[in-house]
Amino acid sequence: MNADEPLLSVRGLVKHFPVKRGLVFARTAGQVRAVDDVSFDIARGQTLALVGESGCGKSTTGRLILRLMAPTAGSVRFQGQEIADLPEEGMRAMRRHLQIIFQDPYASLNPRMTIGQTLAEPMAVHGIGDERDRPDRVRELLQVVGLLPEHAQRYPHQFSGGQRQRVGIARALAVRPELIVCDEPVSALDVSIQAQVVNLLQDLQKRFGLSYLFIAHDLAVVKHISDRVAVMYLGQLVEVADKGSLYARPLHPYTQALLSAIPRPEPGLQRQRILLAGDVPSAMSPPDGCRFHTRCMHAQQRCRVEEPVLREAAPGHRVACHFYETLPSPVEAHAAVEGRGKFALRLAAYEAAREAGLTGRGPTPA
Ligand code: SF4
Repeated sequence: MNADEPLLSVRGLVKHFPVKRGLVFARTAGQVRAVDDVSFDIARGQTLALVGESGCGKSTTGRLILRLMAPTAGSVRFQGQEIADLPEEGMRAMRRHLQIIFQDPYASLNPRMTIGQTLAEPMAVHGIGDERDRPDRVRELLQVVGLLPEHAQRYPHQFSGGQRQRVGIARALAVRPELIVCDEPVSALDVSIQAQVVNLLQDLQKRFGLSYLFIAHDLAVVKHISDRVAVMYLGQLVEVADKGSLYARPLHPYTQALLSAIPRPEPGLQRQRILLAGDVPSAMSPPDGCRFHTRCMHAQQRCRVEEPVLREAAPGHRVACHFYETLPSPVEAHAAVEGRGKFALRLAAYEAAREAGLTGRGPTPA
C-alpha cells in the first residue's frame, strides 16, 4: 500500500435495488436508487461522519463497504486493495480488518450465548490466539470497554442498553480491526449514555489507532468524534468538509437545515430553526435536477433541470449546489447569535437579500 494512499477509498459507489411486481411472473417495476455515485476517503486513524435523514442511503453505504451486500457499481479500495469484487473467500479474511458496530446492540447479540462466548467466537473464526488464551483475551477486552471480567459469564439480557453497546464494541475489537463502521451506535441509547459511548470510542481510537466511518442522522452526535463530515441526501453526497469548516461555514442548504436543528445548551439562546418543507422524495423516482430542490428554500429554475456536481468550494470543502456562492447563509446568522446586535445585522442583511430576489423564503425569526 502506498504511504500516501488513504486507508479506505470509495469511488462512484452505486447500489440499486430492483423492485419486483407480480407473484407468479415477477417483473422488475423499477429501481430503488439507495446509493448513487458516492465517493470519499478515510485516512488512517481518522473518523469520517456520514450524516443524513433516515432512508438517505448511509447505512447501505456502510454495508457496501463491508461487502455485507454487493454493490451495483463502483470501487472500494481498502489498504490499496480493491474489495468491491473480491471473491467471498478473500473477503472473509479481509473482514478481520473491517468490523461493524450496530445501532441495536440487543438485536445484534445472540441471547443464548454468554458474553464470553460472544467475544471468543470472532477470534476463533479468524484464528486469533488459541483456546487457552481466549478467556484471558475476553477478560482484557471487557476491561478495555469499561466492563468487569466477571461479566463474561452473563447473558445479553442481564445488561443495560449502554453496557450491551460496550459489548458490541468489544466484539468489534476482538479481531483487532483497522476500520470500524459505527452504524448509528448511540441512536438507541439514552442521551446521558450517548456521551459515554462516544467518549469510549474516541479513547479506543487513540489507543489502537482505529479509523471510523461513523453513521448518524444528526450533526449534533458527530460534532465531537468526527474529523471530516459527509452529508448525504437521497443517495448522494451533498457536502463533504473538515469538521471545523462544515460547522463554521456550511454551504449546502440541507447541511444548514440539519445544523439549525441542533439545540443550543446556553439558556436564552436559540438557533434559527430551518424547517424543511415536505418529506424526503422516494428513492425510486428521485426528482430531476438537484434532488433537494423540492425542499430547498433557495430553489430556482436551473435547480429543477440540472443536477449539481460535488465541486471544490474551498480546499478540502466540496459542495453540490449551483448557487452556494451567492446564497445568504442563515446559519452564519445563527453562529453570531451570541451577540444579538451582530445577529440583528446579519438577519437584516439576509432580509435585504431576500427582498432583492436573491433567495426564496427567509428563515423564521426565533
Ligand atoms: Fe437548493 Fe438549487 Fe442548491 Fe439544490 S442546487 S441545494 S435546489 S439552491
